[in-house]
Amino acid sequence: MRIGTENPMNIVILGCGGFIGSHLLDRLLSTTDHKIVGWDPESSKIRKHLENPNFTLHQRYVDDPETQQDLREAVAEGDVVINLAAICNPSEYNTNPISVIKSNLFDVYPIVELCVEYKRWLISFSTSECYGRTLSSYVGDTTYENPDLYELKEDETPLIMGPIVNQRWTYACAKQMVERLVYAHHKEDGLPFTVVRPLNFFGPRMDYIPQRDGDGVPRVLACFMGALLNGDPMKLVDGGKARRTIVSIYEAVDAICRMLDNPEKANGHAFNIGNRNNEVTMAELADMMRKTYAKITGDPSYEDYPIIEVSSEEFYGEGYEDCDRRMPDISKAKELLGWEPKIALEDVLLDTMTYFHNEYAGAMKPAQVAE
Ligand code: NAD
Ligand code: UDP
Repeated sequence: MRIGTENPMNIVILGCGGFIGSHLLDRLLSTTDHKIVGWDPESSKIRKHLENPNFTLHQRYVDDPETQQDLREAVAEGDVVINLAAICNPSEYNTNPISVIKSNLFDVYPIVELCVEYKRWLISFSTSECYGRTLSSYVGDTTYENPDLYELKEDETPLIMGPIVNQRWTYACAKQMVERLVYAHHKEDGLPFTVVRPLNFFGPRMDYIPQRDGDGVPRVLACFMGALLNGDPMKLVDGGKARRTIVSIYEAVDAICRMLDNPEKANGHAFNIGNRNNEVTMAELADMMRKTYAKITGDPSYEDYPIIEVSSEEFYGEGYEDCDRRMPDISKAKELLGWEPKIALEDVLLDTMTYFHNEYAGAMKPAQVAE
């Protein structure tokens, strides 16, 4: 069934060519009649949509002076602005901090102001990193006995970040400032807003595979997948003790669609979007991924694929500090949006890793091509 057919919206999506944007376009363009105008200098993940009459791409950065008039007109004509544009790769937070702050705070400021000027609903993508580290980690409760010290509640949990010298927090701090700006405009000027705090969305097209179609350190899914594809060991940062909950990108997109379908319920709120049942340490994730890859390839030797430990300083450089645990309270998304994720981590990994295997396993590494 096509939704939004009776009442199609004009949607502006900034950063529409990335991981989340590409999946959101897949869903919206195939199940609704919404008209979408997007901005992103990258288009390789959304090529199949470029000819769609319901989609217009401005292949530019949102802060490009030459696109400001187009952006203003799109916001003025839009019903909702979804901001996904960001530098959001942890390896950049401490190595490229000024660009990270600019991208996540100063480049977003004019977009917020435009939404205020035209009173347009802004769906602002923030991050679960806004919570920083858990209270448990600060009081030394390594067994996490008290959920009050580690569960993340949108409107109750304090946001605790490390010292300035630990530049890991540039991103989280910039995102938090945007949340505060948006909320202040909501209170003072009536800006309609929704803040999304994603908790480790996983799925096809996330990031890039190092040495294949990008250089540097992507997020953990692509790091582990790249290791398996390239024949390098999987690396556990600081022993792989950090915990994350992982949610399927398809269910995350469901949550966004439920917001779009229920503006009156989504307006004025921040939402954790994550799956409480899919919590793993990074050591467990590495092990699950090598076992899943053994299944996908039919090669049992992957079950014992090499996993090594590296220090965070060696892996990310100076100024890295990890979020110890991110266990979201998702009762708000459940109550207001009727959203509850169900896809088990095993299935998320099987689907996602099959995609990466099919895309990359046949292709040789650049070094092999040169030989
Ligand atoms: P992504 O890196 O795959 O996509 C971001 C896109 O924004 C890229 O295509 C990039 O080219 C584009 N972009 C960057 N700067 C831009 C600019 N100035 N103008 C226009 N486009 C620009 O990231 P993603 O995983 O799709 O994340 C989207 C949003 O969700 C980000 O705000 C991120 O901070 C947030 N987030 C995502 C996750 C997750 O699990 N994927 C977790 C926490 C937060
Ligand atoms: N990590 C790891 N090995 C890698 C890449 C990342 O052990 O090859 C760890 C990282 O230190 C962090 C977790 O995996 O504890 C998640 O990292 P990611 O880059 O996905 O982003 P985050 O969840 O921290 O925002």
